[in-house]
Amino acid sequence: MEYGPSVEDSAAVRDWLARRDAFGHFIGGSFTEPGQLFDSRDPATGEVLAQVSQGTVDDVAAAVAAARQAQPGWAALTGTQRARYLYALARHIQKRERFLSVLETLDNGKPIRESRDIDVPLVARHFYHHAGWAELRDSAFPGHQPIGVCGQIIPWNFPLLMLAWKIAPALAAGNTVVLKPAEYTPLTALAFAEICQEIGLPAGVVNIVTGDGETGAALVAADVDKIAFTGSTEVGRAIANQLAGRATRLTLELGGKSPFVVMPDADLDGAVDGVVDSIWFNGGQVCCAGSRILVAEAVAERFETLLAARMSRLRVGPPLDKSTDVGAIVDPVQKDRILSICRAATDTGAELVGGAAQEGCFIAPGYLRNITPANPGFEQEIFGPIATLSTFRTADEAVELANNTRYGLAASIWSESAAVATDIAARVKAGVVWINCANLFDAAAPFGGYRESGFGREGGRVGMLDYLADAPVDTVDEPAAA
Ligand code: NAD
Repeated sequence: MEYGPSVEDSAAVRDWLARRDAFGHFIGGSFTEPGQLFDSRDPATGEVLAQVSQGTVDDVAAAVAAARQAQPGWAALTGTQRARYLYALARHIQKRERFLSVLETLDNGKPIRESRDIDVPLVARHFYHHAGWAELRDSAFPGHQPIGVCGQIIPWNFPLLMLAWKIAPALAAGNTVVLKPAEYTPLTALAFAEICQEIGLPAGVVNIVTGDGETGAALVAADVDKIAFTGSTEVGRAIANQLAGRATRLTLELGGKSPFVVMPDADLDGAVDGVVDSIWFNGGQVCCAGSRILVAEAVAERFETLLAARMSRLRVGPPLDKSTDVGAIVDPVQKDRILSICRAATDTGAELVGGAAQEGCFIAPGYLRNITPANPGFEQEIFGPIATLSTFRTADEAVELANNTRYGLAASIWSESAAVATDIAARVKAGVVWINCANLFDAAAPFGGYRESGFGREGGRVGMLDYLADAPVDTVDEPAAA
């Protein structure tokens, strides 16, 4: 398979950026005049890619008004008509797959292999899947109304994929949206706005307002019927407080510190590859990263030898290089945050293997060993390419360690015995559990956490319910009695 952008792909993105001095917001189907600007940079080089507008309270109000005006007309379309738009979005994303992958990699720093083979294909898949739900909407959810206008706030680690997770189900259900991308990575959302124009999506159905946390807070304060947030637990908590006393629906997809459990009978080579997918995918900037490796004492030495050898073969380098395994950290602020948690961990007695800071926004993959559950490196979400490695003696101890966290987003269990794996899976408190694999996503599989990882689900039928108002009791979609 051929990987990596061609010269033409990169040139097309450069040309697209060069033709736009500064971006306004996408409101009511067109781009506004740029306002007060901030830079969006390529973290791998520090180069300014584009200037983007900082959304004000007035911008947010205008976007919400546009969404409010468009909502009844959008909801009045038949499911099949809405599906046609979602299919068109999916097809246009596929058509511009290479362009979007390069733009995503430039803005975020993730390896091109990931944006091209994982992020963007999953984005298209998400729109296709939800086009199906739009068609089935009336028969699958009889009596349910759309919620109305949804405010959606997303993080920077999967900019376009998080946009798809938010926008596709909202539109399929008959809602309209105002989405705020993260300030580090607004560019693919703006390219998506152009795709909405290209396919002739009715004005006001999708609105994009760029800006930082202040813009996000303005959206939470605005006249919206639902807020869907993905980001840090701290900000999620602030949003829940801000909404207290209002009837606004809320879903929160927050942080994690997910366990990666290697049982004594696991296929160790497979498990080591699983670690690569789990904590070194997207430089560990993944909410469900298997950041706490828990390995059975009986196989720990062999596992660690294999792990260290595999880790040393990973290539840290330019994100657009097709052979790069670990790209750039999204921003210098995040790099400092990762390094400071690692320092706190080693100051508290842990030993860091690998994990060296490199020039620019790069950190080599690494892991913390000799680490106790009370160590800050074990407790805090590092959100970078650094795992922890600890051992256990019994299955009960493995479960206890796995659950020794305030989060509950995901878990990955490795064992050659289905009985052992499913027993542990049932006892681990996590919204998503993978067995003998890690970080696999599908539009049909609901994703989400509990405890301090948030509430609500995205994907599949259950995800649709989070974008529908509750049905009147006499029309709930229970199967008819035979
Ligand atoms: P963040 O919480 O700092 O920012 C997320 C978004 O919220 C950004 O768009 C930001 O501008 C906005 N924001 C910041 N302050 C706000 C406020 N007061 N009101 C409203 N909006 C505000 O998070 P981040 O640093 O962008 O992302 C990293 C975090 O996201 C990690 O903790 C990670 O685990 C989590 N995350 C979770 C999931 C999931 O599905 N559970 C997915 C990706 C990332």
